[in-house]
Amino acid sequence: MRVLITGGAGFVGSHLSEALLERGDEVFVLDNLSTGSIDNITHLKPNPKFHYTIDSVTNEPLLAELIDSTDVVVHLAAAVGVKLIVEAPVHTIETNVHGTEVVLKHANKKKKLVLIASTSEVYGKSVNVPFHEDADLVLGPTAKHRWAYACSKLIDEFLALAYWKERKLPVIIVRLFNTVGPRQTGQYGMVIPNFVRQALAGQPITVFGDGTQSRSFTYVGDVVKAMVALMNEPRAVGQVFNIGNGTEITIGALAARIKEMAGSASPIVTIPYDQAYESGFEDMPRRVPDISKIHALVNYRPTVELDEILTRVIAYFREQ
Ligand code: UDP
Repeated sequence: MRVLITGGAGFVGSHLSEALLERGDEVFVLDNLSTGSIDNITHLKPNPKFHYTIDSVTNEPLLAELIDSTDVVVHLAAAVGVKLIVEAPVHTIETNVHGTEVVLKHANKKKKLVLIASTSEVYGKSVNVPFHEDADLVLGPTAKHRWAYACSKLIDEFLALAYWKERKLPVIIVRLFNTVGPRQTGQYGMVIPNFVRQALAGQPITVFGDGTQSRSFTYVGDVVKAMVALMNEPRAVGQVFNIGNGTEITIGALAARIKEMAGSASPIVTIPYDQAYESGFEDMPRRVPDISKIHALVNYRPTVELDEILTRVIAYFREQ
C-alpha cells in the first residue's frame, strides 16, 4: 500500500511511518515542520520506500499530486498541544480547519480513503466517563480559547462525515486520547515530556491546578497499531473511533511516579491554571475512553501500560 501521511514528521506521524515501512508499505510524508521535526524521520531516510516533502498541506498542487500517487491518506497535520492552542488561537483554527478542508477536497477527486486524526478534547468538560463515541460533547464558551481546538477538530469531523454521506468519500475518524511515548516534545505543553525533563534536570515538577485531575495515557505504538488496523478494515469507513487506554492516573500521582522512576530529587510544585495558561482557563477533571467500539471491530487492546511508557520516555530523554 502507498500511504500519504500529512504531519508525518510529527510525534505520531513518525511512529506511524515506521510501522507502515515495517509492514512493507511505501510511505510519503508531507510536513511543514511547524511542530514536527526532521530529527523524527532522519533514521527513515535510507529506506527506499520512504519519501518526504517539507511543505504545507495548503500547497494544493503538491497535495493533489501526492494524493494521486497514493492509495490512502492519513491526515495528522494539525496544531496540537493546549499551550500552543491557547497562545496561538488564530493559527490553530486556520490550520486545523483549512488543512482538513483541502485534504478532503483533493482526496474526493479520486475517492481515496482518508483517515482523519481527531482528539479526545472534543468530549470537553463532559463528566459522563468513560466517553463513548456517540456521547454528547460539552464545550466551554468561545471566549476561552482552549475550546477552539475541540471546535476546530469537530468541524473536521463534521466535514469528513459530510463527504462520506454526500459524496461517498471513504473516511475514518479517530479520536486520540493523550498519546505519549518517545519523540513527544514538551514544547507545546504536554505533561509527560515536561515532567520527565524537569525530573531529570532536577527542576521543580510543575503540576497545574491541584493535581486531582486525571488522564488516561496511551502508548504511541498502540495508537499506531489501532490506526493501521482500521485502515485495513472496510467496515470502519464512515465511522468515529476512540483510540485510548482506559487506565487512569491523577496528574499529582503522575508527578510522584515520574519523580520516583527517574530517581529525581526535584520538588513537586503546584501552579494555578491562571498562571500556567491564561486567566479563566478551564480543565477537565477526568478523561477516560470507552474503547469497546474499536475493540469489537478490530480487536484493539492497548498493550503498553503507564510504568513501561514512563520507562521508555525516561530512557529517551536520558539519551538526548
Ligand atoms: N499539566 C501539568 N503540568 C504540565 C503540563 C500539563 O500539570 O507541565 C496538566 C494539564 O493541566 C492537564 C494534564 O496535565 O491537566 C494533561 O495535560 P496535556 O497538555 O498533556 O494534555 P491535555 O489532556 O490537557 O490535552
